[in-house]
Amino acid sequence: CGVFGIYSRTEDVALNTYWGLYALQHRGQESAGIAITDGSWMDVTRGMGLVNEVFRHQVPHMDNQYIAIGHVRYSTTGSSLLANTQPLMVNYSGGKISLAHNGNLTNAAEIRRELEEQGTVFQTSIDSEVFVNLIARSRKESVEEKIMESLVKIKGAYCLTIMTEEKLIGARDPQGFRPLCIGKMGDSWVLSSESCALDTVGAEFVRDVEPGEMVVINDKGLKSYHFATADKKAACVFEYIYFARPDSVIDGQSVHDARFEMGRILARESGFKADIVISVPDSGTTAATGFAYESGIPFKEGLMKNRYIGRTFIQPSQQKRDTSVRLKLNAIKSVVNGKSVIMVDDSIVRGTTSGKIVRMLKAAGATAVHMCVSSPPIGYPCYYGIDTSARKELIAATKSVEEIRQYIGADSLHFLSIEGLKESLKAVSCEDMCYACFNSAYPGEKPKEDTIGADK
Ligand code: 5GP
Ligand code: SF4
Ligand code: MG
Repeated sequence: CGVFGIYSRTEDVALNTYWGLYALQHRGQESAGIAITDGSWMDVTRGMGLVNEVFRHQVPHMDNQYIAIGHVRYSTTGSSLLANTQPLMVNYSGGKISLAHNGNLTNAAEIRRELEEQGTVFQTSIDSEVFVNLIARSRKESVEEKIMESLVKIKGAYCLTIMTEEKLIGARDPQGFRPLCIGKMGDSWVLSSESCALDTVGAEFVRDVEPGEMVVINDKGLKSYHFATADKKAACVFEYIYFARPDSVIDGQSVHDARFEMGRILARESGFKADIVISVPDSGTTAATGFAYESGIPFKEGLMKNRYIGRTFIQPSQQKRDTSVRLKLNAIKSVVNGKSVIMVDDSIVRGTTSGKIVRMLKAAGATAVHMCVSSPPIGYPCYYGIDTSARKELIAATKSVEEIRQYIGADSLHFLSIEGLKESLKAVSCEDMCYACFNSAYPGEKPKEDTIGADK
């Protein structure tokens, strides 16, 4: 998911949130929502689909609106319902509160059951709803204390933007799984999952929210609170590999630069030689340019992507998914015909896409297809906010690299090593990262019960 928030006495906060969500669309295409307040009223508009589908007719508006938060959602198919869209909004004894969440909680089911036993009513099936219920039930005086008291009870991955009638609040879990950054536009403050959305709205990057930090913004400015410290930080390395946009900078590390390095290291590790280097657009492109740069083999556009198709993974059946690969990608015959090809992609999840593309390239006349993947094999599921539904069918969970190579029909196959991946992260401490989907070293507890309505 992607979250956004803005506090401004001068800008159109709803419109800026709409633009911000547009820039975060890659983080979730299932639903979108914007909540706004003018200090006494609070209103939320949510719907299924892309940002421009949900707000096709109009962007929400209130006279004197001055705080807004927004959300784009990416979830498992089963829980893709209107009732589960965000931001969530509740009325409670202390006033009104809206909340948008990115991440996946590992003890939400336990907390929810406890609260239900005590009579709390839940309106959605998403894990994020425990936040609002804990906050609403807290007996602490101030909203800051209520939120902090709730946050220390919750385990797992979360980045939050929260809005009351007076304040914009951001929080990042103590391990820092997901990104969240702060921007400034004149006297206005912005919070965003990724810095690319700050660029879009014209805000200047200030800094990242630190793991275990809560920031509270009102007319007096920004106040910082540290609510918890983790023994070990665990920023998601998959943000750098695939999830985040290359023009974002997370915790001081440019996503583009990390991917480019991954490609360079991949060229050295694999030692593959061929006539051309191509990418699986768009997610493989940055690494492919790094591969070409390092190896001296020319980068060519061997595959064309239809940019109007998204959501390959959200198709419910395997048969539909197969069609959608062909809808999404096509080989450029004049580029690949008669050529040996190095094809770079960021990851192999199920192997469905990769197999189809290898066959497509061969049908277009490629004499050999050597596949290079800019991540290690994904052998384990993620419990911290990356698509678990896709990960249930992980090909690397049951097959060796050689078996995967045969399955996808490539002439050679190389995956970036974990050491190589660490080496690609030059501006950030690679020890403060999570690599669990590659090595099963889960940095926190695994959920004891099935996560309810896993929300990304
Ligand atoms: P596969 O060959 O496993 O079927 O598909 C690999 C492709 O899926 C890669 O191009 C990669 O960019 C993309 N991918 C990796 N992780 C995810 C994810 O969590 N969601 C979606 N929609 N695509 C993903
Ligand atoms: Fe990221 Fe993988 Fe860790 Fe999940 S398990 S947080 S995808 S590195
Ligand atoms: Mg891809």
